[in-house]
Amino acid sequence: MKIIMLGAPGAGKGTQAKMISEKYGLPHVSTGDIFRANIKNGTELGKEAKKYMDAGQLVPDELTVKILLDRVAQDDCKNGYVLDGFPRTIPQAEVLDKALTELGDKVDYAINVDVPDENIINRMSGRRACVTCGATYHVVYAPTKVEGICDKCGSELILRDDDKPETVKNRLEVYHKQTQPLIEYYDKKGVLKEVDGTVDMNEVFNSIVSILA
Ligand code: ADP
Ligand code: ADP
Ligand code: ZN
Repeated sequence: MKIIMLGAPGAGKGTQAKMISEKYGLPHVSTGDIFRANIKNGTELGKEAKKYMDAGQLVPDELTVKILLDRVAQDDCKNGYVLDGFPRTIPQAEVLDKALTELGDKVDYAINVDVPDENIINRMSGRRACVTCGATYHVVYAPTKVEGICDKCGSELILRDDDKPETVKNRLEVYHKQTQPLIEYYDKKGVLKEVDGTVDMNEVFNSIVSILA
């Protein structure tokens, strides 16, 4: 099963992708997590990506596509995966389709987690991230047992540089211009599914499970 998560920054794509990954035993592939791991490790890719991420812009397609195709070519992705944060542009979606078609394969579901812009800034300012294991929390909606410490791995949590309100505004603009057109793109392919992302995260997950079941 190959699943794509669509939605604005902060809509809950990562949260839902992790839950899907656990329930269905599919790898969770997040381009944002891959970039952040590279930034943490000081790689060339990380240095290049950081310039764009800090400005709330997209990392150029050439770079992003290569990273993603390498990742999904790995052995653990043979039986499917959940893509979180990719594709984010029409050209990225086209490259993915072409790569899958060459393998006689296709995307099964594109799940759009729908959350209006008004809710987003609030979600982002409360988001806390673990750069060591990729876990995500929220100070109100998904608090950790010990404040500031990852429940899963014990590392210190960060407030992402790009989650500051000024940057979130840019990211929302970029989302509407470059990523939102993907909703129509996947609708035309007949694989689009919509879920209301404003409700409790477990309720969002229940809607997704009933789609995948
Ligand atoms: P969020 O989950 O809040 O939307 P991500 O972790 O998915 O954030 O992405 C963080 C940043 O990484 C994006 O704002 C963008 O700069 C970069 N990025 C992640 N995925 C892509 C992609 N597919 N194409 C271009 N840039 C990306
Ligand atoms: P995305 O990957 O789309 O950027 P995240 O999954 O990181 O979004 O969620 C953004 C923030 O909102 C996180 O702090 C997360 O804990 C919180 N969150 C996710 N889903 C919900 C929900 N349904 N209700 C309230 N908060 C949520
Ligand atoms: Zn952790």
